Amino acid sequence: MSNIKLITFDLDDTFWDIGPVIINAELTTRKWLEEKVGAIDWGDMESFLALRKDLAKEDPSLYWDLGKLRREIFRFKLAPIASDEAELNELVEDSFNYFLDKRHEVIFYDGVIDALKDLSTRYELGVLTNGNADIYRLNIGEYFKFSVSSLDVQSNKPDKEHFQKALDLSGFNSNEVIHIGDHQVNDVIGALNIGMKAIWFNKEKVNWEQEVSKPAEILDWYNYKIIDEIA
Ligand SMILES: [Mg+2]
Repeated sequence: MSNIKLITFDLDDTFWDIGPVIINAELTTRKWLEEKVGAIDWGDMESFLALRKDLAKEDPSLYWDLGKLRREIFRFKLAPIASDEAELNELVEDSFNYFLDKRHEVIFYDGVIDALKDLSTRYELGVLTNGNADIYRLNIGEYFKFSVSSLDVQSNKPDKEHFQKALDLSGFNSNEVIHIGDHQVNDVIGALNIGMKAIWFNKEKVNWEQEVSKPAEILDWYNYKIIDEIA
C-alpha cells in the first residue's frame, strides 16, 4: 500500500521548456512597447543582467518577487520616455501584463497532461515554483489542490519555505510526499532536506553532480508510472 499521499511538482523545465518562452516574451513585449512609444535603449544582455543584480541589491524582495523585478526593469527603461509619473505607471503595468500573457504561452512536454490527469486520480497534486507561471491560467489547474510560488512564501527553493507550505496546506507529513523537478539543488536537495522523497526530472540526461546519491529519475512524461513504484 502506497505511503505517498501528495506529489508536488516544479513547473519551468519540468512541464515545459522555459528558455524559449522567456526569450519570446521578452522580445515580443519590447516590440509591442516600441510600437507604442518609439525606440527604447534596452542595452545588451550583460547590462541587462547587471541591472537585475543592482536592483535586487537595493531591494532583496526582488529575488523572490519576479513580478516586481520585471516591473522595476520596465520602470527603469521607460522612465526617460514617459512624460509623467502617471504615464510611466500605466506603461509599466501594461508592459508587465503583456509580458505575463506571453510568459504563459508554454508548450507542454509530451505526455505531461495525461500523466497529471491520471496521477490526480490516485494522489493529491501540488505545485511548488520559483517562477511566476500560474497553473490556473493554463489548462492544468483542475488537477491540482494548490500552487505555491516564491511570491507566496517570500523565498526560493531550495529553502524550506515552499516545501513547508506544501505540508501546511495538505496536512501530510514529509514522508508522505514526493517532489518532482528538474533542478538538482532547488528541487531534489530542497525536498530531501525536509524529509520528502524526490524524483529528478532529467530530460536532458545530464550527470548527477550532488554529493548525496542520485534519486530516481524520470526522463520523459510517458514514463511517469515509475512514480507509483516509488510511492
Ligand atoms: Mg525548474
